[in-house]
Amino acid sequence: MKKGLLLVISGPAGSGKGTVNAHLLKREDFEYSVSATTRAPRPGEVDGVNYHYITKEDFLCRIERGEMLEYTEYCGNYYGTPLKEAEDVLHSGKNLILEIEVEGARNVKAKYPDAVLVMLLPPSYAVQEQRLRGRGTESEQKILERLARAKEEIYCANDYDYVVYNHDGKDAEAAEQILSIISAEHCAVSRNKRIAEDYLGI
Ligand code: 5GP
Repeated sequence: MKKGLLLVISGPAGSGKGTVNAHLLKREDFEYSVSATTRAPRPGEVDGVNYHYITKEDFLCRIERGEMLEYTEYCGNYYGTPLKEAEDVLHSGKNLILEIEVEGARNVKAKYPDAVLVMLLPPSYAVQEQRLRGRGTESEQKILERLARAKEEIYCANDYDYVVYNHDGKDAEAAEQILSIISAEHCAVSRNKRIAEDYLGI
């Protein structure tokens, strides 16, 4: 069976990662990696669906036991990708979406050079700020912290394989672009090592 593709989607707060991912996840060949985090759930978030909400002690134990594919500290909290869940999905042949920040993405690429890294961006920094304030889920201090972080992270976009812009009300189009990227990647010769053997049936 073909192994699934490891798709990393990063984007600053307000880039619309969640909405774009929701489009991708309507398809049966995509699965979402539920991260573990030490941050508190936001209103409406559900344990085991948005994140596995765990304590710092538990998180550090999991790192120690080698149970994290990658992890990072972001704005005062730990976030990480559970290794076993990720491997199970990839071996099932489905594409796995990791919605993670830039440091985690870099670590994934170092471990799995085949991973496809997509940077999802709002059309501009000004639009990002509007979206963040409009969301109303974070305190002013948290908003400023996340905007400052976004300013640093944008320079990491150059390390990614693709950049996709999420214009207002165009999240379905952004998801379509990502699907096109994945389709093309599946056709890459470098991912199809047995072209002649499979063709000749040997
Ligand atoms: P939020 O608190 O807004 O849900 O997430 C904060 C940041 O952490 C986002 O950029 C999100 O993509 C990133 N993030 C979520 N889960 C993980 C993870 O497992 N690993 C890493 N490296 N980043 C994550």
